[in-house]
Amino acid sequence: MVHNKLSKEHIVAHVGDDYKKFHGAVVPPIYENSLFIFETFEEFNEAMESEHNHYLYWRGRNPTVEIAEQKIASLENGEQCKLFSSGMAAISAAILSFVKTGEHVISISNIYGPTTKLFKYLEKFGITHTNITSKKIETIEKHAKPTTKLIYMESPTTMTFQIINLPEVTALAKQKGLHTIIDNSWATPIFQNPIELGVDVVVHSASKYLGGHSDLVGGALITSEDVMERIFYNEYQLLGGVMPPYEAWLLMRGLRTLPLRMKAHQETGLKIASFLDKHPSVKKVNHPGLETASDFELGKRMLQGYSGLLSFELYSNSFEHVKKTINALEHFKIGVSWGGFESLVLSPNNGRNDEYLKKNNIDPGLIRISAGLENEEDLMDDLDQALLI
Ligand SMILES: *Cc1c(COP(=O)(O)O)cnc(C)c1O
Repeated sequence: MVHNKLSKEHIVAHVGDDYKKFHGAVVPPIYENSLFIFETFEEFNEAMESEHNHYLYWRGRNPTVEIAEQKIASLENGEQCKLFSSGMAAISAAILSFVKTGEHVISISNIYGPTTKLFKYLEKFGITHTNITSKKIETIEKHAKPTTKLIYMESPTTMTFQIINLPEVTALAKQKGLHTIIDNSWATPIFQNPIELGVDVVVHSASKYLGGHSDLVGGALITSEDVMERIFYNEYQLLGGVMPPYEAWLLMRGLRTLPLRMKAHQETGLKIASFLDKHPSVKKVNHPGLETASDFELGKRMLQGYSGLLSFELYSNSFEHVKKTINALEHFKIGVSWGGFESLVLSPNNGRNDEYLKKNNIDPGLIRISAGLENEEDLMDDLDQALLI
């Protein structure tokens, strides 16, 4: 059989690695140098004039960082990737690259909290924003103004894990001349490749599954060569939130096992979701891979698999009950973030934010869990005992 596309397993193992360049080292070294020196002033000047083609300074290109970038670009089937110091640095760079004063951004359904805060922050520069709670294409179209320049999405959506019809949105965007950005942290490039569905820019929090070991914070931005050249000289170099080489090296180490880890997260996540779906204390499970999920069919068209981050809603949805359930869990640790080896739990309900929850269509009894790489029976037993409290 002839594969004309590189397998994801091959990409993480070999793409970007140049064994000759590093004396045959099977694991590339960390280039922990802030600058590169030149033999002649002419060569130096040439590098200064086109930094995106040369090694010059830390806030530009670095051989270690580039290996991880090439792997991620290839996994996403995009032309280029740049790594940032955090997911938010990548998200800010992507958004700022497309909008200026007087322009408007649309975001769809539930998106990551700090990203919404960033849109609010940008109001001080005269950039406005509308969040559309519906995923219906007619509603999205109705909210597009003459000043709208960008559609920002996450699919599956934050906290509620609903699926957005990406080909429908990108078709609308192309027709209206709008740019599109998607935060693909949940699915990872293993399970969703939005560039193939027409999205202009993909961003990731590398702090989640890409790193996978809860030992680094980073971000990735994947796009075409043209868009990247502009971002490199502007938002990347001028805002300066670049990934340091040590973090890139850790990220590369995490990437080596990404396909394997995602398989395990998928399996455990699905088992936990069906277990919770049948549980008498659980009103609803938010996981696009459940056959009973309203977005199941749509999700199958967009996703090649499911990660291990999901949420469920308790019948008894008071803050008191949410608190009791979370405190009763033992294997699931209480904390932010997700996508690591360890199972985690939290709820957006803090007992003082009813208004916020209502506005964002989040049930007060919602609990989010990140299924880690532990034994799945242990995790289900843990949930069972906590839910019966
Ligand atoms: C964590 C997260 C981010 C932000 O990433 P940082 O690396 O924490 O800056 C963005 N989007 C999603 C969906 C996230 O979960």
